[in-house]
Amino acid sequence: MLNNKYCNSLIKYSRWKTREVLIGNVGVGGKNPIRLQSMTTTDTMDTEGTVAECIRMINEGCELIRITTPSKKEAENLKNIKNLLLKKGYNTPLIADVHYTPNAAELAARIVEKVRVNPGNYADKKKFQKIEYTDTDYIKELERIETKFLPLVRICKENNTAIRIGTNHGSLSDRILSRYGDTPEGMVESAMEFVRICHKENHHELVLSMKSSNPKVMIHAYRLLVHQMMKEGMNYPLHLGVTEAGDGVDGRIKSAVGIGSLLEDGLGDTIRVSLTEPPENEIPVAKKILDHFNKRKNKYKIPPINNNQFNPFLYKKRFTKSVSNIGGNNFPVVLADFSLKKKITPLSLFSLGYKYSVSLDKWNISDQACDYIYLGNHDLDFKIPGTIGLIYDYNKWKNNNKGYPFLNVDEYMSVEKLSNNINFIYAQIADFSENFFLKLKNDKSAVLVIYTNNDNFFAEVRCVFFDLFNNNITNPVIIKKNFSCENSSKASLLTGSSIDIGSLFCDGLGDGVFLSSESNELYGYCNQISFGILQATRTRISKTEYISCPSCGRTLFDLQETTEKIRSATSHLKGLKIGIMGCIVNGPGEMADADYGYVGSGTKKVTLYKGQDIVKRNIPTDQALSELINLIKDNGDWKPMNSD
Ligand code: SF4
Repeated sequence: MLNNKYCNSLIKYSRWKTREVLIGNVGVGGKNPIRLQSMTTTDTMDTEGTVAECIRMINEGCELIRITTPSKKEAENLKNIKNLLLKKGYNTPLIADVHYTPNAAELAARIVEKVRVNPGNYADKKKFQKIEYTDTDYIKELERIETKFLPLVRICKENNTAIRIGTNHGSLSDRILSRYGDTPEGMVESAMEFVRICHKENHHELVLSMKSSNPKVMIHAYRLLVHQMMKEGMNYPLHLGVTEAGDGVDGRIKSAVGIGSLLEDGLGDTIRVSLTEPPENEIPVAKKILDHFNKRKNKYKIPPINNNQFNPFLYKKRFTKSVSNIGGNNFPVVLADFSLKKKITPLSLFSLGYKYSVSLDKWNISDQACDYIYLGNHDLDFKIPGTIGLIYDYNKWKNNNKGYPFLNVDEYMSVEKLSNNINFIYAQIADFSENFFLKLKNDKSAVLVIYTNNDNFFAEVRCVFFDLFNNNITNPVIIKKNFSCENSSKASLLTGSSIDIGSLFCDGLGDGVFLSSESNELYGYCNQISFGILQATRTRISKTEYISCPSCGRTLFDLQETTEKIRSATSHLKGLKIGIMGCIVNGPGEMADADYGYVGSGTKKVTLYKGQDIVKRNIPTDQALSELINLIKDNGDWKPMNSD
């Protein structure tokens, strides 16, 4: 019985064994290491420019290179790119990225080592129409798709060319959407229809992907895909990626959350971090994500799971009782750690989102202001904003009688005096016992602060939640991750916490984030990352979200510069999702859940969207930003810049 099975084990790290697929000289899946890949941003007709970019990517460690192939002429030019790369001594396999144009795919399949097709637009159209199919009509549609896809499969088989069947959440066809809705099931079925055609034709050089700009959606879709493959006796390798992740810290967090969560369960054979930055910037980020798993030893045993009630294919927030502003229907809280800080001054609060204005004699509180500060044994000798909760070690709290106590499980079980409001109980799985659960169950003031030193952090803390489910414990849980000085580089902190904590939030587990670094300087960065994780997992929105594409040869404007301009004008519009897409061919689909869209639609032309509807077509680029602002204003979503 497969039940909800989608990986080898929920408690022990091991890679799910896929079949090896050869992409030129690079093996993907099987016993091969997880491969790094990226995509060029140049015009595919610019042979020299594309080759130069490929070389920069290869020098960073890129093992597979994808190149956009919109039409037959670009497909033909792949030969020149390939030859020039070979002449310069590079034989890195190339992948043609094809949307809408089977004839380009068929040509490219004779030249490069792999062709990526998007089942949402290879044989289907997307006009955002709902179509009713009878079962007979639907079977006829599948036959039509087979007729369209089969020539490519046969060419690939003849030429040993691999195929990536790459489903994107935003570009599911009207046919799939009409039958399955906008769901992970629809994404999986969209790919499986194509997989079954290849399978029937005995072509097994396949790699599959289920991308989305929403990490929760992509995680659930990939898990469901593996589950479905297990059911059908298949094990094709997986290409992991979060589409249109954006740039900077936010893009890195989103990618680490989505890709890392799947790698935690041993899923994934090749990864692409997709940033609105030069493609060579993506490779170090991808390497950092893989580093998180390289030292995985399963050193600490995690207890076996009895009675697993967890549905891995569906997002559902764990039900918790509300303790003050933690748990229940409250947003997840963010805690900051000042316990190791030598001196705490008003300035220390600036990087936690609180700024004191001397002239106004008041604190300004930003949307990314932490909710609680853990002070350990410190005292504060200045007045803090009333919105911050202070947490002290138990003995300090007992003597001061202010703020909230932080206790270990022994203290919690033995002391007589507890806070009537909130008690933060620092615990790990080894502390759990029947008596502890009994006390927790009746306690309306207990908030668990769960931590572990296990390098398999995600799996162990997930098991904590399974234990809580099984024992009907509904106290809120704050997830704490400690970074030692050696592990406290900014990149390690970002990647480690995004993977370990972000993955749990994507499964609806967690009511707060508490990052601690032994490095004194990083408490502000910990705060930024904590809010970034909550934003990426869409559990607490504290800023504008930019769903910006990484750009490719189809891009019709400078994406990085444009994203920056749009960000500087709209970054105060907390909660809005703005799509910034390089082309109108794929952009509208890819930004399907954006509130507003800014999409390249011709040379120096931009088309603006409200949701999925076009509202202003082909505006000259130099007027596009002000038109976007007008559109946001017309729809009542604009706020003045300084209203914060
Ligand atoms: S949306 Fe961006 S990355 Fe995707 S095809 Fe268009 S320009 Fe390329």
